[in-house]
Amino acid sequence: MKHIIVLGAGPAGLSAAIAAATDRKNPCRVTVLEYLPSPGRKLLASGSGKCNITNCLSAEEMAARFPSGQERFVRPSLSAFPPHKLLEFFEERGVRFKLDAAQFHYFPQSERASDLLDALLLYAGSLPIRLCCGVRVQALPLEGKQIVGVQTADGLIRCDGVVVAAGSPAAPSLGGHGSIYPLLEAVGHSIVPPVPALVGLQCVPESEIWSGKLSGMVLERAALSLDARKVTRGEVLFTHTGISGPAVLDLSGRVARILAQGEGPVTLHLHLDRAVSAQEWRTRLETLRRNAGKSSVSAMLRTTFSRAFSDHLSLVAGANSCSCATLSGGVRERLIELLTSMPLEIPATESWQRAMAASGGVSRSEINRCTLRSLVVENLAFAGEVIDVDGPCGGYNIQWAFSSGKAAGLGLAGGVA
Ligand SMILES: Cc1cc2nc3c(=O)[nH]c(=O)nc-3n(C[C@H](O)[C@H](O)[C@H](O)COP(=O)(O)OP(=O)(O)OC[C@H]3O[C@@H](n4cnc5c(N)ncnc54)[C@H](O)[C@@H]3O)c2cc1C
Repeated sequence: MKHIIVLGAGPAGLSAAIAAATDRKNPCRVTVLEYLPSPGRKLLASGSGKCNITNCLSAEEMAARFPSGQERFVRPSLSAFPPHKLLEFFEERGVRFKLDAAQFHYFPQSERASDLLDALLLYAGSLPIRLCCGVRVQALPLEGKQIVGVQTADGLIRCDGVVVAAGSPAAPSLGGHGSIYPLLEAVGHSIVPPVPALVGLQCVPESEIWSGKLSGMVLERAALSLDARKVTRGEVLFTHTGISGPAVLDLSGRVARILAQGEGPVTLHLHLDRAVSAQEWRTRLETLRRNAGKSSVSAMLRTTFSRAFSDHLSLVAGANSCSCATLSGGVRERLIELLTSMPLEIPATESWQRAMAASGGVSRSEINRCTLRSLVVENLAFAGEVIDVDGPCGGYNIQWAFSSGKAAGLGLAGGVA
């Protein structure tokens, strides 16, 4: 039996280990080396401990929602092990699932991420898989184009192949760190410098638009745009220092990348309620001017927004002393621009500590997208977040971890046979 080492015991690593150990033609003996004292820390913390494991999209639809350039890369793994197969895998091991109120996101019925980890570890324990925690990997020694084993503080562990599933530097309190990158560079791989993703964005504190006083306010039907091609939709939450919420998180990796290139601050445009277009606001204001001209602009806005936000908006638009009847054309257009395309200056993202993922990692151009095997080193494969892949919020990243783990485990088991 060939021996494979998996680096990292997150969802991607455990999935790779199970796939390699259960490969029909070439089942392998697997050793999983985990840096932390226990496995699956991020999986346990995911979805606030409830784990949004996946969602109800098909593999094809899911792939299409990854950032542009990643779609083609993630499609083969997602298609081979799509969301419904992942749910079936766990259901066969006693885990039941439910959809959330939006009928889109899947969670364990028990709302306990630990049920998923327990099921994985129980199954792995029945296979020729050995899990070793608290192991620091020091090097991946090469002979020609082959890795001969994994160098640890206790010596070299020889093997026939290695799957790297070591995650990203996101959430260091849950073990996120990038110590694997230099080891991969040493064997010839390129690393796209990682930046925080799925993270809140800071706003320029002195900007006239953003106000720390609005902290806690949620816009439920917002849209946020970086440019005409990159628009996200969903909730936007105002925080003490900036903005967060799904629409913000989904854009954050792109913003972080631009900021890392020294091209900041980045200007985003916020459509406060995407159900109401600029023309509809114009019509509403005109109707009010005719029928309820004495009411203040802020009172009109309160039909859609909170009192504090309505007061703030009319102040910034210069309409705080106007009634609907006395609103000049210029002020009206300024107000409509704020409502439908409010500029927000972003000087920085929140820190790695608050990031749920990383944008960046092992360059996709050096990995076979079907087997996830390295194009640089013959007996090396990659899975999960260590690769330069970052899905949006909503179960995409854990699905990717499991799907890519399976592809890498099978890809390597077949490759070293
Ligand atoms: C707070 C939080 C909430 C989240 N919620 C969700 C959610 O609800 N849904 C969703 O889809 N995604 C969510 N995510 C993202 C998701 O958890 C990750 O994308 C996913 O865990 C990535 O899986 P992975 O196996 O690739 O990496 P990880 O889960 O990070 O596992 C990698 C493992 O490798 C270990 N490791 C690192 N370096 C080495 C090394 N040199 N040697 C050995 N081991 C090493 C790490 O200790 C870690 O255990 C969340 C993330 C966070 C931080």
